[in-house]
Amino acid sequence: MGKATRITQILFLISLLSKQILSQDVGEHVAARTVKQEEGHAHKVHCSRERSRAAWQAIEEYLMPFVEREQYQISSKCRLHPSNDLFRDQEEHKIHVDINEWKCGYCKKHFRAEKYLDQHFDNRHYNLLNISDGKCLADLCGALHCDFMMDSKSTKTKCNPAAVAKNRHLCESLADSCFPLNQGPSASRLHELFLHQFCDAHTCSGKRNLFPKGGKKTTSVFYLAISILTMMMIPLFYLIVYLHQSEMRKGTQELRRISKVGKKTKPS
Ligand SMILES: [Zn+2]
Repeated sequence: MGKATRITQILFLISLLSKQILSQDVGEHVAARTVKQEEGHAHKVHCSRERSRAAWQAIEEYLMPFVEREQYQISSKCRLHPSNDLFRDQEEHKIHVDINEWKCGYCKKHFRAEKYLDQHFDNRHYNLLNISDGKCLADLCGALHCDFMMDSKSTKTKCNPAAVAKNRHLCESLADSCFPLNQGPSASRLHELFLHQFCDAHTCSGKRNLFPKGGKKTTSVFYLAISILTMMMIPLFYLIVYLHQSEMRKGTQELRRISKVGKKTKPS
């Protein structure tokens, strides 16, 4: 009797202990999960990387060539300044090795597509994001025509007057803050250009003429073609000159031979 009760007591104790251990374990798991979730929320950035990239492309392609030509320094107060794009540092650490090969510039890991590298940045290098207010370039998408940049350059047919007016206002405020009219001739020239290039197209009446001043790609392709042509023409020119000269030499040698032969045959 005594033995049996002792055994049941021990068994009871063991079950109690195991229950406690189990519950602790489960509790820890739950705790770990919530911490992980909190981390997940902490580095979730409410700014679209894709749209920020489209905005940056619009700036780089249709504004920067003109800014460089004027040798104008955009102030960091201007929202188009690279330091105001929270993804800029990460985007500049993308190495496009081959069509299907992307490399992380921080840890040198390889990826098959850009989207996997984007995910890698989000998961592994989120601490490098420059998170603070007003640094989301995608917020300027309305003014900078991101949809046009992303939709393979097609323009939508529907026009919403309220949205257009809002975008136009944002666009004009960018022109005012980035190229203040009181900061010399190049600033005012760029102010005028920005309005023409980006803001004039924010209209429902008439045809929308996007980026009328053109951009980087067309000019760079044009210059590339011309430089390749000249590079090809230079050796061709020398080849022609060389062939011509050697032909001339041959001609004179032949002439000499003929004259020699003539001289030899004449006296006999
Ligand atoms: Zn990495």
